[in-house]
Amino acid sequence: MRYVSTRGGAAPVSFSAALMQGIAPDGGLYVPAQWPRFDARAAPDALPVFAAALLETFVADDPLADQLAAITADAFSFPAPLNSIDGHPAQVLELFHGPTAAFKDFGARFLAACQARVPRAEGERPLHILVATSGDTGGAVASAFHGRPGVQVSVLYPKGMVSPAQERQLTCWGGNVHAFAVHGAFDDCQRLVKEAFVDSALSAKFALSSANSINVARLLPQMTYFAATSLAIWNEHGAPASFVIPSGNLGHATACLWARKLGLPIDQIVLAHNANRTMPDYLTSGEWRPRATIPTLASAMDVGDPSNGERLRHLYPNLAELRCAVTAYVVDDEAIRARIRTGWEQHAQIWCPHTAAAAEAFARHTQDGAVARRWVIVATAHPAKFPEIVEPIIGQTIPVPPALAALPPAGSPTEIEPRLATLRQSLLLS
Ligand SMILES: *Cc1c(COP(=O)(O)O)cnc(C)c1O
Repeated sequence: MRYVSTRGGAAPVSFSAALMQGIAPDGGLYVPAQWPRFDARAAPDALPVFAAALLETFVADDPLADQLAAITADAFSFPAPLNSIDGHPAQVLELFHGPTAAFKDFGARFLAACQARVPRAEGERPLHILVATSGDTGGAVASAFHGRPGVQVSVLYPKGMVSPAQERQLTCWGGNVHAFAVHGAFDDCQRLVKEAFVDSALSAKFALSSANSINVARLLPQMTYFAATSLAIWNEHGAPASFVIPSGNLGHATACLWARKLGLPIDQIVLAHNANRTMPDYLTSGEWRPRATIPTLASAMDVGDPSNGERLRHLYPNLAELRCAVTAYVVDDEAIRARIRTGWEQHAQIWCPHTAAAAEAFARHTQDGAVARRWVIVATAHPAKFPEIVEPIIGQTIPVPPALAALPPAGSPTEIEPRLATLRQSLLLS
């Protein structure tokens, strides 16, 4: 499999090259050059085995191909259960059973397991992973790389815009993981990372690589649970699955659309956005207009300029087709709060703000009774990551899952202004 740039101005590269470069030299994002059909006649195996089968063609002809089974075993070390909800027509796919209790553990652990195994020449510059996070990515990436020899990690997050529990997961590691609290928004963090990649002084010292969802190796493994869940539903009910996805940077949405492109039995895809409405507005107006990020209760979805919009527009250059492929809703903070309350009072579910946004989008999408499909609400984070939001609404203390309880206490980040010169200086001294 070769990977090509969304902008068409870069030579096709191997999986390992796309994985290490992160962004293509023409500034575009790597996407697979082909979409071979995935033929799964049997029921899906255990997740790591299924993941290796699904991803085989995407790593074919690559130095990592022989190690794929070990990589998926290393990465997919926790379950993704599909649960029914009392008195609710949809099921919930829980993607928050990993070490940092959010779905980003899947992509981050796969990426780290790959990057740590890519053969490196002797005397090569040290590998340095740069990642911008709106909350959950950074913690998942830091956890996935922490303690892996020969890799440094710098995580940039917008100061004051992540929850206290998220901040702990960004700053608690030490060792090979360095946290930067940027005086700005997520988009500033993302811009700084993009600028750092093309900075000659930094490239002279480090082999820089990204771990954001701009990295194609973060997205490919995310197809796995959409694929496995849709097959499980197909095998049980003979009907395709429809997904409601809490969306921000649109990585998750891209992975689900890719899984459908491989021929998996996926019907409708509904995106739940918070007040950051660039994607819903694009579907309505046909104009892609990135804007400043608005802070909301669903902070991991606070993205005013979603990078993976570029991959979606590449996949569907024709707007009419994209409109058929996905539907998007805007869910504001008030509706998120109300949905957390109904989730608890009517269904005994404790939803994080992101999952609540999806539950609200589901309710709006199916309000005319159109629930005949097999609906799956994707639960992206454990509610215990957002106790200060969720607990006052439901009037309950949320039990903390063991993985979160076991993390070291918060450390102190390096605070920086959102300027490349400042970041460069700090990294060169490290
Ligand atoms: C990142 C994140 C999202 C949004 O996913 P994207 O791939 O950026 O669209 C939703 N919920 C949670 C909890 C997240 O961490």
